[in-house]
Amino acid sequence: MESRTVYYLEGDGIGPEVSAAARPVLDEAVRSAYSGEKELTWQELLAGEKAYSATGSYLPRETLNALRDDAEVALKGPLTTPVGSGFRSLNVTLRQTFDLYACIRPVRYFKGIQTPVKRPQDVDIVVFRENTEDVYAGIEWEAGSPEAKGLIEFMRERYQTDVDPESAIGIKPITEQGSKRLVRRAIRFALQQKRPSVTLMHKGNIMKFTEGAFCSWGFELAREEFGDSCVSEDEARGEGEDRILIKDRIADNMFQQVLTRPSEYSVVATTNLNGDYISDALAAQVGGLGLAPGANVGDDLAVFEATHGSVPKRAGTNSANPSSLILSGALMLEHLGWFEASAKIYRALERTIQKGRVTYDLARLMQGAETVGCKEFAELIAENMDGN
Ligand code: NAD
Repeated sequence: MESRTVYYLEGDGIGPEVSAAARPVLDEAVRSAYSGEKELTWQELLAGEKAYSATGSYLPRETLNALRDDAEVALKGPLTTPVGSGFRSLNVTLRQTFDLYACIRPVRYFKGIQTPVKRPQDVDIVVFRENTEDVYAGIEWEAGSPEAKGLIEFMRERYQTDVDPESAIGIKPITEQGSKRLVRRAIRFALQQKRPSVTLMHKGNIMKFTEGAFCSWGFELAREEFGDSCVSEDEARGEGEDRILIKDRIADNMFQQVLTRPSEYSVVATTNLNGDYISDALAAQVGGLGLAPGANVGDDLAVFEATHGSVPKRAGTNSANPSSLILSGALMLEHLGWFEASAKIYRALERTIQKGRVTYDLARLMQGAETVGCKEFAELIAENMDGN
């Protein structure tokens, strides 16, 4: 019997409901796939409001220690960012503390959902978004502040730049190491999952030394570390090419490509801001964020989490859709190498949606569907696991 420990953080708002609904579905998938030869062991860690009431801290030391010293994977519900100036998001704190540098968001279509596009089934794209750098590094100053004025003045004196002294200023750090480790992960994933291409999405035609460098470093890494298994589009042999194609797309073009020719894209590796935008746009193409899973992955720890927030107004109503967390759990199973169990989840969810008994958010997108609660929807998914 192979047992793996999953550290779980319930989260706030709808978090406890979706977390309690999701765990039995993952257990059922593992049981159904491996008939008792593998199992998950669940270990709770406190975070958010529950942690605050119990310990006086939103992110207690025991939680941080367990994530640092013991955990290989964690399944996290959404955490509310307490309102009040100066409070850092717990989600951002976790990503920074554990250097979870790759944000991975797979986007695929489940039959039965109505979406704004004609061929949502052509979308099967996994976005690898750099998670620590770019304009999201949080280095920015308000217009007119002494810092912004000082920096503008320094740049004028030192580099003869001409920036309006009343400007707000934001800094966009992009490093070779940060870019390469993200692209490395995307290529490894493509190899492992036998995906045909990795597209480097960037805005290097305008921002040459940041976005452009991301792309150049990506190609350099592909050549140096994956020379036998990857090839650029220019050097590809055409028909019969069995190596992974490394494509290069300017960000604005990419937004129209994923609408007009989505089947030509498989894995996308990109910088932080681009990745934020493209993953939500892709999620919309297949029916919205309710079905969008996510993972924040570093070299020592991977935290799998729903992409939505804590939806405080629905807390305690048993109405939220648990799919995003369940699908994040499926990603976690893949991370552990348990692909048979994750495949069970995809098929069971699709089967459940097609039977037309779904949570309110999906019922809105489906003609004649019956609305069921969060717990009941998860139970239906678990019931539909066998016989796949
Ligand atoms: P939200 O995702 O909580 O809610 C936005 C809307 O999306 C909701 O009104 C609801 O209609 C819908 N929705 C989201 N998830 C759903 C689900 N599972 N089932 C059905 N409907 C769903 O976003 P928000 O209102 O901007 O944020 C609320 C809180 O969550 C904030 O404190 C924010 O900081 C936090 N947040 C946390 C995370 C995270 O933990 N990773 C992510 C985003 C927001």
